[in-house]
Amino acid sequence: MKINLATLHQSSKGHTMSDQTSDAARVAPSEVDHAEIHYFNSYNHHGIHEEMLKDEVRTKSYQNAIYQNKHLFKDKVVLDVGCGTAILSMFAVKAGAKHVIGVDMSTIIEKAREIVKVNGMADQITLLQGKMEEVKLPFPKVDIILSEWMGYFLLYESMLDTVLYARDQYLEPNGLIFPDRATIFLAGIEDGEYKDEKIGFWDNVYGFDYSPLKHTALTEPLVDTVDLKACVTEPAKVFEINLYTVTAADLAFKEPFTLDCRRNDFIHALIAWFDIEFTACHKPIKFSTGPHTKYTHWKQTVFYLREVLTVEENEQVQGVLSSKPNATKKRDLDIEIVYRLDSDNPIRTAEGRCEYKMC
Ligand code: SAH
Repeated sequence: MKINLATLHQSSKGHTMSDQTSDAARVAPSEVDHAEIHYFNSYNHHGIHEEMLKDEVRTKSYQNAIYQNKHLFKDKVVLDVGCGTAILSMFAVKAGAKHVIGVDMSTIIEKAREIVKVNGMADQITLLQGKMEEVKLPFPKVDIILSEWMGYFLLYESMLDTVLYARDQYLEPNGLIFPDRATIFLAGIEDGEYKDEKIGFWDNVYGFDYSPLKHTALTEPLVDTVDLKACVTEPAKVFEINLYTVTAADLAFKEPFTLDCRRNDFIHALIAWFDIEFTACHKPIKFSTGPHTKYTHWKQTVFYLREVLTVEENEQVQGVLSSKPNATKKRDLDIEIVYRLDSDNPIRTAEGRCEYKMC
C-alpha cells in the first residue's frame, strides 16, 4: 500500500470539503439537514469535478459507452442524474440525443450552464438546479438515464437511491440505464507494515497507551491504493446490483463470501472494490476499480481485521459481509465483516467479527 492517507474524513470523494454555507444552511437545520448540506456543498467547488474528469478510466468509460452507441442515443430524451459539470449530458448530445436534462443540487450547475453554452449546446441541454427528488422535469418520461453515482465502497454517499428514484419516476418502460450493473468484490491482503503504522501506532505514543484511538482507527475503513502483490487470496464476488431491478431496500445487504488463499502468508485486512458495466452497449463496456488494473479516484477500501490470520495455500477464509445505511445519517454506512478460517492446525484456526463505520 502506498503512503497516501486519503481517509474518508477528507470528504465524500476524497477531497477537502468546501466550507461554503448555502442559504439553506441559515435556517437552523437539523443534524440530518446539516449532513445533506455538507454533502451537496462538497460538490460546489470545481476541484472535486476536476478529479472526476481527470479520472480517465471513469470518464472515458462513459464516453465510450455513449459514443459507441449512437444508435441507442439518436433522437432520445436523456436524463443526467447529478450532472455536475454536464460532461455526460454533452457526450449524449454528441451521440445524437434529441434533448438532455441535467439535474444537480450543487452550485457547480451554474458553471455547467456556462460550459454548455460555450460549447453551443444550450438548446439541447436543460439544466435544473435542485434535488432530483424535488425538481420538476420538462418531460414526463425519459428514454435513457445516465448517472455517475458511485461512491467509495460503491455505496458510500447513497447516491444510488437518487438514481433509483429517477428510474421509478421517469424512465420509460423499455428505457435504458447507463451504467446498469455494479459488483462489489473482496480479497484478503498482507499489509503488516502499514497496519503497524496505522493501527499499531496507537499502542505506544511517546510512551503512553493510546488504545482508545486504536479502537476508533480499526473501525474506520481506509480508502487507499493497494498493490496487487499484497493480495493473498483470489478475489470473490460478493454483491451484484442490476440497476433495472434493484430497490433502495436491497442496498442494505448481507452476503456470504469465500476467499481462496493463493499462497502461505498472513492476512491483515480485507479489501473491497467494484466493477461497473454498461450492458446496453452494442459491445459491452466495463471498468474495474480493483488493485489489478489502472488507478481510479475510488482506489480500494481497506478493512483491517483485529487479528492477523495465518493462512496456507488452498485454504479458505469464509465470511459474511453486511452493509447498511446508518439509521440517522443515511449517507454513512454501517459495515460488518464476520470471518472464519478453518485450519488443520488449531492454533491457526480463527474467527472474528469486525464492525466499521464509513462516515
Ligand atoms: N455527472 C458528473 C458529476 C458526478 S458527481 C460527472 O460525471 O462528472 C455526482 C453529482 O451528483 C454531484 O455533482 C452531486 O451534487 C449530484 N447529486 C447527488 N445527489 C443528488 C440529488 N439527490 N439531486 C441532485 N443532484 C445530486
